[in-house]
Amino acid sequence: GSVMEKVLQRRSLRLRNMQRTWQESPEGKKMLNFRNSLPAFREKERLLQAIACNQVVVISGETGCGKTTQLPQYILESEIESGRGAFCSIICTQPRRISAMAVAERVSAERGEPLGESVGYKVRLEGMKGKNTHLLFCTSGILLRRLLSDRNLDGITHVFIDEIHERGMNEDFLLIVLKNLLPRRRDLRLILMSATLNADLFSNYFGGAPTFHIPGFTYPVKAHFLEDILEMTGYKLTSFNQVDDYGQEKMWKTQRQLAPRKRKNQITTLVEDALNKSNFENYNSRVHESLSSWTPDSIGFNLIEAVLCHICRKERPGAVLVFMTGWEDISCLRDQLKAHPLLGDPNRVFLLTCHGSMATSEQKLIFEKPPPNVRKIVLATNMAEASITINDVVFVVDCGKAKETTYDALNNTPCLLPSWISQASARQRRGRAGRVQPGECYHLYPQCVYEAFAEYQLPELLRTPLNSLCLQIKSLQVGSIGEFLSAALQPPEPLAVQNAVEFLKMIGALDENENLSHLGKYLSVLPVDPKLGKMLIFGAIFCCFEPILTIVAGLSIRDPFLLPQDKKDLAGTAKSRFSAKDYSDHMALVRAYEGWKDAEREGSAYEYCWRNFLSIQTLQAIHSLRKQFTYILKDAGLLDADGATNNRLSHNQSLVRAVICSGLFPGIASVVHRETSMSFKTMDDGPVFLYANSVNARYQTISYPWLVFGEKVKVNTVFIRDSTGVSDSILILFGGNLNYGAADGHLKMLEGYIDFFMDPSLAECYVKLKEELDKLLQK
Ligand code: ADP
Ligand code: MG
Repeated sequence: GSVMEKVLQRRSLRLRNMQRTWQESPEGKKMLNFRNSLPAFREKERLLQAIACNQVVVISGETGCGKTTQLPQYILESEIESGRGAFCSIICTQPRRISAMAVAERVSAERGEPLGESVGYKVRLEGMKGKNTHLLFCTSGILLRRLLSDRNLDGITHVFIDEIHERGMNEDFLLIVLKNLLPRRRDLRLILMSATLNADLFSNYFGGAPTFHIPGFTYPVKAHFLEDILEMTGYKLTSFNQVDDYGQEKMWKTQRQLAPRKRKNQITTLVEDALNKSNFENYNSRVHESLSSWTPDSIGFNLIEAVLCHICRKERPGAVLVFMTGWEDISCLRDQLKAHPLLGDPNRVFLLTCHGSMATSEQKLIFEKPPPNVRKIVLATNMAEASITINDVVFVVDCGKAKETTYDALNNTPCLLPSWISQASARQRRGRAGRVQPGECYHLYPQCVYEAFAEYQLPELLRTPLNSLCLQIKSLQVGSIGEFLSAALQPPEPLAVQNAVEFLKMIGALDENENLSHLGKYLSVLPVDPKLGKMLIFGAIFCCFEPILTIVAGLSIRDPFLLPQDKKDLAGTAKSRFSAKDYSDHMALVRAYEGWKDAEREGSAYEYCWRNFLSIQTLQAIHSLRKQFTYILKDAGLLDADGATNNRLSHNQSLVRAVICSGLFPGIASVVHRETSMSFKTMDDGPVFLYANSVNARYQTISYPWLVFGEKVKVNTVFIRDSTGVSDSILILFGGNLNYGAADGHLKMLEGYIDFFMDPSLAECYVKLKEELDKLLQK
């Protein structure tokens, strides 16, 4: 009690001295001058007052006005100044890890401290915080995880949930949990921050919490739509060739397959008509429909290039921000631009990228001023829409799309499609150009398409599978999942909830009564999709941990195999070299990873990655995720200290295959061989296609009757990404629910399957599995 109190008081005084010293230093004064010029500063006293008097406050304000970097810092400063600095503990969540890191770094710099002192961050895999950290920026996922073990958020004084307008699933989930927590923690302060003006929605959710708007100043931005842009850049929509020229080729190609020629004309006419501005209302929906087959690689690289040339040649100085759909797109366009005589000239153009997986060093470059007469061009995902502010942007190029997952509850299929953004996003993107002077925004779509956009984007909770979320709800011990979720701002469809519950029952994470099983408890502490978590645990139990660890880390980050647009075939060939005829993308990943480790030891990692079309950053991320998983599993007592036992059987291919199957089931497709071709059907009889980069797409025949796959994705047709061939016996043994003692039944069925008994290690393992599972799942 009082000893602790004394320590904290002493620490508080120290904090105050340090803060004052900094604020009185020349650099400190300069920084303070800058900070005091931000719009948020004018509201500082009013906001501090409101936060002191209300448990919940909703704050909105133009992006860049200083919400994220200033408001939590105001609280910290005023607590420190009042001599209570060491008693406060402020958490501010960000939807993306990269913004949590960038913001923490910025705020420590503003306070003249190294990162990890009074300001720190924590994201999956990484963190910088110490015992003196009183303001922590973290991802919303991290706060949710913390709530699992610390249900009252003991010791936390203020929680900021940032970017709530994005309506990410974690943010919506946090709101429910915190709303339940507030009555129990009367002293806890909750501050919601949002960029756009739908603050009322959140205020109502918290029983009419007060809302504040920070009026921000932005310069006017002139919007150019496709009509204008074509004229400006010399593109005219009068001939089909030119239409192809600006990258809509893919669209025509798809259409051609359906009905050659006629179809193409019809669509071209639609776009032309729309551009002629006649009959807007009629055309909106039809144009929308036809344009929906635009794929990410066809949003118009050539058109973007033309716009960038136009800016560089004709426009005043100022940075350019290009909004693209995703990392693949960005890297393709970057390669294209690098080869351009003007845009690729490093003496004239400073070409940068900004996306979720970029390295921290690259991140810093984005904020830097280029030398005079060099134009900064940043190719970004929609991350640059609100969470990251690049100050000197004067020109924005908006492709109009963002890659977004949608979820079809009826077919229980997640879809990953670049889809049209909302009007709110388009306005937000445009606004990024007006921060330092009047700006220009180039929207690469006709105005009528903009008018057909939805007003706001659908919340993520309503467009993603709820498997992980439902598992977390269960481990929070807050009762029925359905009931809990019905308290959401906008509750998901009951069918989506039911699908998730069924899924969790099927993999054995929940029992018949929807109670968390032993396995479920383990799964809820693993920061991965439940089925990958299950694969990981099985990998440990079945003593083939290392390869499975690589596979799970790879599946939960992204594919390290690159697929550059113009070198698809070479990349495919490179990948297939890793497949060793075992019909498995997952095994290919394991070999590629191990090859990289070897190359690294020999100092040839870069060359190795270049030659094999591998992303070194992704491999590094897989490496650190592997470490984290190992640590968690050790902690949970599922791994031996030295790991040797858990790897006794790592060389056993059929076993690894079996464990892959145990995790990925029911992602299973039957291989149908015809005379000259192969096709694939999922359990519900739907046809699926193999992703072009799959090693299995390169074979004429596959010597397994089944393929297990991680995810199916709807992109025009349904594709499966990574797959592994499995035998009947593996499917029967390891597919489906082994967990309720049904295993005896399985064993009987197996008697007809010769290959099972030809592989004694598999049989031995199966018996072991049954024992282990019985232990694991004992009720
Ligand atoms: P908001 O959260 O309201 O969008 P921020 O607090 O992120 O605004 O940023 C406020 C201002 O701080 C920005 O307009 C920018 O001028 C400045 N800023 C933010 N991050 C950085 C950074 N990493 N480097 C330099 N300036 C920055
Ligand atoms: Mg912000």
